Amino acid sequence: MAELVRITSLQNALVKHARSLDRRKERKESGQFIAEGVKVIATARDRGWTPDTLFVADSEGKAGMVPSLIDWARQAGAQCVSINDKLAEALSARDNPQALIGVFRQRWASLPAKPTKDEVWVALEEIRDPGNLGTIIRTIDAVGAQGVILIGTCCDPFARDAVRASMGSIFSVPLILTTRIDFLTWCSGWPGEIVATHLKTATDYRRTYPAPTLLVMGSEGPGLSDELARTASCRVRIPMANDAADSLNLAVATGVMLYEIQRTRL
Ligand code: SAM
Repeated sequence: MAELVRITSLQNALVKHARSLDRRKERKESGQFIAEGVKVIATARDRGWTPDTLFVADSEGKAGMVPSLIDWARQAGAQCVSINDKLAEALSARDNPQALIGVFRQRWASLPAKPTKDEVWVALEEIRDPGNLGTIIRTIDAVGAQGVILIGTCCDPFARDAVRASMGSIFSVPLILTTRIDFLTWCSGWPGEIVATHLKTATDYRRTYPAPTLLVMGSEGPGLSDELARTASCRVRIPMANDAADSLNLAVATGVMLYEIQRTRL
C-alpha cells in the first residue's frame, strides 16, 4: 500500500470542511455527509458508494479490512489521507474514534412513479429526531421494505446521529423528500393500501396487509395530522397495556408495524 498524505493540523482545509458537515446548512450546501467506522465504510463500498475523502486514523489504520478499503477507495478516486488520533477524535462523533471516516455525497430519490406489487414504503410526517430516523432506516433495510418518504419539515437523514443510528443502512435505503401537497397528490395514484397509524382508532394493527403498502407515521410531538390521516385507506393502532404510556416511540411503532406488514414475507 502506497504512503498516504499525512494531515496533522485542525486548520487543514479537508479537516475543517469535514468538521463543518456537522452543521445542516453546510451539508445542504455541499451535498455531502460523514459516515464513520470500518463496517459502515465496507457497507458503502458493497452498495456502490464511494467517498470523496477518506480519513484513516493512526490507531487502527493498518488492521483488518482497513488496507483493502483504502485500496478500493483510492482506486475509486477518493482522496485518502492519514490523520493522527487527535484529529480522529475531532472528526469523530464517537467516544472511541473510528479507524475510517468518510465524506460522502448525498443521494436523494424521487417518489416512485409506478410501485410494483410487492413494495412497502414508509412515509414519515415531519419527523424531528435524527436517532429515530436512522433507526427507522435501519429497520426498513432489515425488513426489505423499499424506502422512506419524508414529508414536510423533517430532520436531516444525513445528520451524524441519523447516519450512525442507521448502522450503514443509509447506503441501502432510498430517501425521498417531498412536500405535503406533492405527497397528497402522489397518494391519489397509489395502487394499494395506505395505512395510517393513529392513537385515536379502535382498529387493531394485527392483520394481513395486501401489498403494495404505504405506511404513514406521524410526528413525535403532535402525531399524525388530520389531513394525512384522512388520506389513508385504513387507520390502525398498536394496543398498549392500560394505556399507561401516552404512545410508543415513533421508531418502535414503525418497527412493530413493519414486522406485521412483512410477517408473511420474512
Ligand atoms: N402525542 C402524539 C399523538 O397523539 O399522536 C404521539 C405521537 S407518537 C410519539 C408518534 C407516532 O408514532 C404517531 O403519530 C403514530 O404514527 C405512531 N404511534 C405511536 N404509538 C402508537 C400506537 N400505540 N399505535 C399506533 N401508532 C402509534
